[in-house]
Amino acid sequence: MTTIISGKDLASCRKAKLRLEIEESLVKYGRRPKLAVILVGNDAGSLSYVRGKAKAADEVGILVDTYHYEDDLTEDFLVNKIKALNADPEVDGILVQLPLPCQIRSDVIIELISPFKDVDGFHPRNVASLYLKHEGILPCTPKGVIALLDSANIEIDGKRAVVVGRSNIVGMPMSKMLLDRNATVTICHSHTKDLASVTSNADILIAALGKPRFIKAEMVKEGAAVIDVGCNRDSNNKLCGDVDFDNVAPKCSYITKVPGGVGPMTICCLMENTYIAYLNHMEGKN
Ligand code: NDP
Repeated sequence: MTTIISGKDLASCRKAKLRLEIEESLVKYGRRPKLAVILVGNDAGSLSYVRGKAKAADEVGILVDTYHYEDDLTEDFLVNKIKALNADPEVDGILVQLPLPCQIRSDVIIELISPFKDVDGFHPRNVASLYLKHEGILPCTPKGVIALLDSANIEIDGKRAVVVGRSNIVGMPMSKMLLDRNATVTICHSHTKDLASVTSNADILIAALGKPRFIKAEMVKEGAAVIDVGCNRDSNNKLCGDVDFDNVAPKCSYITKVPGGVGPMTICCLMENTYIAYLNHMEGKN
């Protein structure tokens, strides 16, 4: 029997708990956490992500200041804005919605955000913290995937985990987090030969390649746990994952769906990261 792990339900539970914690902290510290969100341009996907994040923040009691700029914004302007937000004692988290227009260098902007306010966990210092096992802010999507696996009591220790995708924001940190939980991890990418022979050995398969319904039933081991990170539009403009859900699900012990799987957990972890940044800020740890 296949169990569908609902990221929507898990996120909803965790947000309810977070809301209570934030209410308690409001009494203790006299103010709510605040997240600054920067959006440049009018890309439909980015607008929708930012709306989703603002809605989740509202649910848990985090204040959001959204700065929405036209896509001809200069890098200098954004640099100055980030510096001002870094210095603002009322701002706990800063999120710059990616991608940025080509005249603005994302790496320059990400490196400029204070690592203590980098709630996405993309700053080089937070990346290094993950690899060195130091305390830091973890990137939201892989953090959400681990939470999904844990919520279903899926054993990670000693299991063969395969991650398809090696991006800095998903595949690489995902692989490190699984390794830290003692999985034997294989990372696949676009140069991997005979991908199916690798994926079909996975006890835990994480699909994060960004190709609609790419992972087919014959690429998956019977009884595997499959987590679909993909968030794509198919040829009919329908939202879908990287996994061919209808054909893969019957083979799995556990699987997530798109939508309603990893996406809500990414947003939930962003809220949790903002709260962690706020607590560190309030307790004078940075
Ligand atoms: P990237 O495009 O940055 O990376 C994709 C990775 O997949 C690359 O490492 C690439 O390999 C690999 N890849 C591409 N094609 C193949 C292939 N045919 N076989 C094996 N590997 C392949 O994407 P992201 O990591 O940013 O995102 C991946 C997916 O996850 C996207 O659908 C994205 O929308 C989604 N996403 C969802 C989130 C959520 O909250 N649900 C959050 C973030 C992303 P190579 O390195 O060789 O090019």
